[in-house]
Amino acid sequence: MADIFDNAVTSIVLGMEDFREGSDARMLSAARNYYAGLLLLGKECLIRAAPEANPMEIIGAKFEPVPDGDGGVDHEVVGYATVDLAQLKSRFKKFGLSWPDVNIEKLQRFRNNLEHYHLAEPVGALKEAIAASFSMIIDFLETLQEDPQDVLADVWDTILEETNAFNRMQKSCIDSLLRLNWPGEVQGLDRISCRNCGSSLIGQTDRDNTNSEAAYGKCFQCGQEYHQQQLAEMVVSASYEIDAYHAAKDGESSPIATCPNCNAEAYVENGEVSVCFACKETVAGECSRCGADITVHEYNPDYPGLCSYCAYTWEKVMRE
Ligand SMILES: [Zn+2]
Ligand SMILES: [Zn+2]
Ligand SMILES: [Zn+2]
Repeated sequence: MADIFDNAVTSIVLGMEDFREGSDARMLSAARNYYAGLLLLGKECLIRAAPEANPMEIIGAKFEPVPDGDGGVDHEVVGYATVDLAQLKSRFKKFGLSWPDVNIEKLQRFRNNLEHYHLAEPVGALKEAIAASFSMIIDFLETLQEDPQDVLADVWDTILEETNAFNRMQKSCIDSLLRLNWPGEVQGLDRISCRNCGSSLIGQTDRDNTNSEAAYGKCFQCGQEYHQQQLAEMVVSASYEIDAYHAAKDGESSPIATCPNCNAEAYVENGEVSVCFACKETVAGECSRCGADITVHEYNPDYPGLCSYCAYTWEKVMRE
């Protein structure tokens, strides 16, 4: 266990050498080595945070209760499996360590798919998923109080260059989307995802345009182009999908809805705004009969001025 750190560094260096070479075959190996090294480095953070403990009791994936003979139980490690990424993250929290603010899920998905499909997605997007996670290595090494330049030696320059190149490109893309006059708040645009290759490098084709109704998007990784409605849908999804996830968990209605006017999946209703990010129409209003708020979820195009309850009642009266 003492050499987890050395193994982590070796895997990352091997992965980066493959990454630098850049051919399709080497990128598969890069993803495998690099991801393994990243996980090991995270495990080392936990181990060093509790130096007196047996490492397997820190990074083991499975535990079973065993009676301690005094009426209580101890927990014993079962097997040799160690934590996966999700477990690592939750243990960081328990250990009071800060978890890097990096979108690592994309790389994780790539890594999991490597075994099953070979490389289903373009190599460029895999390369980007790796580059997007470099700051995680930097954060882990900081937690470990290790000098990255010292530890990673000749691959450190590559990491720095790629991080800079990626960050610059991503910032330029995000800035071009933030420049638009969206009808509500947009955020989390580093989570935007190309429908073709999964890249987050989605920006406007015309970088300087400020009118969201005349905005066209493009993936700067694979070249896929997006018309105005699709771009609005992607921006809404990146900005509000976390809220939608929480709403679903709490049994509330999603803040993202289909627009009754243009059919884009870009209508946002979250208590603050009720508007379509694609066509900027709003269906919000007060019911002319009972005064209740009309939301997009109960909007009925046949009775635009009525809430769903009054529309239903009215329809029933008309039928009788
Ligand atoms: Zn793409
Ligand atoms: Zn619309
Ligand atoms: Zn009403």
